[in-house]
Amino acid sequence: MEHHIKQLDSRFGAQNYNPLPVVLQRGSGVWLWDINNKKYLDMMSAYSAVSHGHCHPELVEVMHTQAQTLSMCSRAYFSEKMPLLLEKLCTLLGYDKALLMNTGAEAIETAIKAARRWGYSQKGIPDNQAEIIVFQNNFHGRTTGIISFSSDEDYRYQFGPYLPGFHIAPYGDIEAVEKLMNKNTCAVLVEPIQGEAGIVIPPPGWLKKLEELCKNQNVLLICDEIQSGLGRTGAWLASSHENVKPDAVVLGKALGGGLYPVSALLGRQDLMDVFNPGSHGSTFGGNPLACAIAHKAIEIMERDKYLENSATLGEYFLNQLKTIASPMIKSVRGRGLWIGVDLDQSKKTGRQACEELMERGILSKETHETVVRFAPPLIITKSEIDGALEIIEQVFMG
Ligand SMILES: *Cc1c(COP(=O)(O)O)cnc(C)c1O
Repeated sequence: MEHHIKQLDSRFGAQNYNPLPVVLQRGSGVWLWDINNKKYLDMMSAYSAVSHGHCHPELVEVMHTQAQTLSMCSRAYFSEKMPLLLEKLCTLLGYDKALLMNTGAEAIETAIKAARRWGYSQKGIPDNQAEIIVFQNNFHGRTTGIISFSSDEDYRYQFGPYLPGFHIAPYGDIEAVEKLMNKNTCAVLVEPIQGEAGIVIPPPGWLKKLEELCKNQNVLLICDEIQSGLGRTGAWLASSHENVKPDAVVLGKALGGGLYPVSALLGRQDLMDVFNPGSHGSTFGGNPLACAIAHKAIEIMERDKYLENSATLGEYFLNQLKTIASPMIKSVRGRGLWIGVDLDQSKKTGRQACEELMERGILSKETHETVVRFAPPLIITKSEIDGALEIIEQVFMG
C-alpha cells in the first residue's frame, strides 16, 4: 500500500517536493498517524499552518456549520462573516484596515501592489520607478513576482524573466539598507525572523533601527509575519519582541486554523486606501467559510493562551536542547515554539537527522541542508516535549 501510494505520486505528480518517506493518514492534536497506524509527534506543524493542532474539533465544527450555511458568494456582494473578521484582526493587532487573500504568496503580492501604489500616489515617486528593499535568504513565496527577488537559485532557476524594482541587502545589516535607500524607495519588506532560511534571528535592535530608518526616509516597513506571526514566537507578532510596529504586516498559515488557506494584509489607513474598486481581487479571498474559520482560530488562540504556552514551553524546549552536548550540533536558536538546530554537515545532514527522528516517531523537516526545525503545534504540553527530548537526544548523540 505504502509503496503503491509513493509510485502513484511519482508517476502522476510533478516532483517539486522531496518528502520524507512516510505516508500520513490522520491527525489529532499534536499527533499524526501513517497508513500503517504508526504514531508520530508533529514537530513541523505544516510550516506553522497547524498551530492549533490537527483537526481541532471546534474549528472542524465551525467549518462544518459554515459549509452548510454559506461557503462561497464572492466579493460581488457583502457577506456577514468578512467584516467581523476584519474588525477582529485590526483591533487585535492595532491596524486600521485589512484585506483578505488565500495563500501567503498572494498576500505578499498584495503588499507589493499596495506599497508601489502608495509610493506613486502618496510619496510622489515617478511612474514605474518604485523600489522595494528585501533581504538575502528571504522567503516570501513562489509567484514569479516574488521569486524575482529571492536570493536562492533553486527558487529562480529558469523561471525568468524576473520582475524588476527590488534590491537585496544582507539580513541584519543596517548600513547596507541605508545605502540602497533613495527617493524612489517605497518599502522595506522583511521577515522579523527568517523562517525558511533556518530560523535566523537578526541582531538585537536591528529591526528597531530599520523602523527608525524607514520612518525618517518616508519608507514603509512591511513585515512578513506569515510564519512568525500568530503566537509562533510567543507573541501575536514577532516584530513586537523588538518593540517595532510595522506600517503593514502580512499574515497567513496559522490564520486558517490548519483547515483552510486564509491570508491577510493589515496596514495603516493611507496605505490600505490606495485600493479602489477594480484595483485588486481574488475569487476566494475573504469568503464566508475562510472568515468563519479564521475568526474562530483567533478566538481559540486568545482563550486557550497559545501565546503564553509558546513563550513558556518554547523557552524550556530551547534551553533543554542547548544542554544536549552533541558534537553534531553547531548551534541552537529560536524564539517561542520555533527552534532551529544547526548541524555540522560532516557529521550528520539535516535530512539524515530528520529520517532518524521519523523512524523514532518525530516528524520534522530540514531546511537548507543543515538545519532541523522544531515547531510543534502551540497546544503541545511539557510532558510531550520531554518525551520528544529523549528521542532527539538519542538521534543527536548517536
Ligand atoms: C510560507 C511563507 C510564505 C508563503 O506562503 P504560501 O501560503 O506558501 O504562499 C511567505 N512568507 C513566509 C515568511 C512564509 O513562511
